[in-house]
Amino acid sequence: MQPGRREGTKKIFLILTGLTAALSLGVGDAQQPATTAAELVKDPAVKAALDAAKANEAQTIADQIRFCEVPAPSFKETARGEVLKGTFEQLGLQNVRVDKAGNVLGDYAGAAPRPRVVIAAHLDTVFPEGTDVKVKREGNVLRGPGIGDDCRGLAVLVAIVREMKKARVQTPGSITFVANVGEEGLGDLRGVKEMFNVTMKEQIDRFVSIDGTGVHVTNVAVGSHRYRITFKGPGGHSFGAFGMANPIGAMGRAIAKINEIQVPKQPKTTFNVGRVGGGTSVNSIPFEGWMEVDMRSSDPASLAAVDANIQKAVDAAVVEENQRWGKPGVVTVTKELVGDRPAGSTPENSAIVRNGLETATVLGFTANLGEGSTDSNLPMSLKIPAITIGGGGRGREAHALSESFDTTDSWMGTQHALLLTIALAQK
Ligand SMILES: [Zn+2]
Repeated sequence: MQPGRREGTKKIFLILTGLTAALSLGVGDAQQPATTAAELVKDPAVKAALDAAKANEAQTIADQIRFCEVPAPSFKETARGEVLKGTFEQLGLQNVRVDKAGNVLGDYAGAAPRPRVVIAAHLDTVFPEGTDVKVKREGNVLRGPGIGDDCRGLAVLVAIVREMKKARVQTPGSITFVANVGEEGLGDLRGVKEMFNVTMKEQIDRFVSIDGTGVHVTNVAVGSHRYRITFKGPGGHSFGAFGMANPIGAMGRAIAKINEIQVPKQPKTTFNVGRVGGGTSVNSIPFEGWMEVDMRSSDPASLAAVDANIQKAVDAAVVEENQRWGKPGVVTVTKELVGDRPAGSTPENSAIVRNGLETATVLGFTANLGEGSTDSNLPMSLKIPAITIGGGGRGREAHALSESFDTTDSWMGTQHALLLTIALAQK
């Protein structure tokens, strides 16, 4: 989950009414699995698995702590990946493997290979190497970096496998469970990029990421582009070389221009110059200045437009700085794309979104629809049915060292994810 997802994006809360639930139960289309959630909960094996998911929530929480105490910064997920691989093998998933990116995959075979559902949770955290990842428990509250985001998702993923195996739930379609790398920050979705472009290319019919906490369905993907923009020049003595174009001068002009860019309120589109640096001393014309810029929108066209305007602003600023000092080409600029999360959405009336909401309703929970920046961004941009759901419980202060997870009724998230997995593996 990305920082600012909760506070930075406007959440749309749709309280499910009996009416919409009834509608979604009654409407069928080619994509809609034949067996509804309401029918599935009456199936003895499914019921046994759901009951066990609740009864064994203590085991799920123990797994959550176990996974969390293995450090897994983005790009250094191997150790935690090994723990998940061992757990997948122990639970009897087939063809347990690690792909080139480091994603850990295991199959749960159904009657047919397709439809194939992928249920994923991300291994990586935003916390650097050396962070104390010991989990502390005070009553119902667990404290530890990554405990909710996304050790909760990993634990729920494992709980689904455990209870489906024990209850011998049989599905028409097949499921691949994945503990994936590279969701956070500059990990830049490299785990799902590998999965959709290489490892399981054209083999994924439906995708669910279990990311974060609570019971919700995210069907709108806020995309983002991030750049590191570097301005360079010869530099020189502040007195002796005065009159030379200044890279930080150009950067200042660029920031002023960026801040004047107009963006739509709907769909919410944003930009931010978040970090700046450069220079060597107060009495030197710098030879370099750099800044990091982030822009976001759930609408691909608006994201492309704000991106183009920022590029234009930067180029114009460099020209102006060189003109000001009367010599073209003294200051130059390079723009490095360091983050590219595509925007997209899965329609509210699609089968997968309806399943996400309906499975919660059938279990007696309320699910909210929302938007965020998660691993589902990638399949959504490829128009592959995808949603992100929470793993239950209550998370606080994700991405902070003080991150906590309240386990009160967290079994609801386990049950929701379990029933949704089974529902999506129908025809
Ligand atoms: Zn996350």
